[in-house]
Amino acid sequence: MTISTLDTSLKPIETCYRGNRFKSRLEARWAVFFDLLGLRWEYEVEGYELPDKVRYLPDFKLFSPQGNHRWVEIKPSDVTDDPKFKAFKTAIAKLGGTHAQLVSGSPLQWLDKRYSLCPRCGVPTPNLFPLFGDSYCFPCDMETPSGGDNAWEFNGLQGIPWRPHKGNIITEIKNGCLLKRLAYRAATTAQGARFEFGEQRHEFKEQSFQSNEQWVGVR
Ligand SMILES: [Zn+2]
Repeated sequence: MTISTLDTSLKPIETCYRGNRFKSRLEARWAVFFDLLGLRWEYEVEGYELPDKVRYLPDFKLFSPQGNHRWVEIKPSDVTDDPKFKAFKTAIAKLGGTHAQLVSGSPLQWLDKRYSLCPRCGVPTPNLFPLFGDSYCFPCDMETPSGGDNAWEFNGLQGIPWRPHKGNIITEIKNGCLLKRLAYRAATTAQGARFEFGEQRHEFKEQSFQSNEQWVGVR
């Protein structure tokens, strides 16, 4: 009788993409997704010792188009909570000005759950509505003026025009729909990205979206 080693096939496959060694393909797909949307990222760049001496290394440091950063932790689609992540999120919240988001599943699975991306900073947010109209993003709320009657800004994700309004980030509905389409294109491409084993650069050709001129004008 032999002992089955089937369970080893369930281990994540280490994946090399753009000189980074990702713990899983899932993480590498998010890196491709962020690249396609023009978001700068760093992988496992800074570790933290939490108050209980547990060490924590967030997956992504994601830079917003406005030059701020958020931490993004990637988990498989069936993992929606993690005690270590929660402790990290609480600890950095006390530092102020930073934000952490746990993201479950691939970019495509994220969008299919009707979860969105913040139109301003690009961080995946678990808001249960499509990418148009009002969108809530905690760090963007902290970084933008409060109240109404704020002017349009043109430095959102992929150049999308946005304005802060009473804590929310507002986009024109047409622009929100287009951004959603772009996000789906990026997610689909990331899902189909082929990675080679080992240290070789893989064959995936980075694509960029020419979207700035496509946004409809804002009043
Ligand atoms: Zn945001």
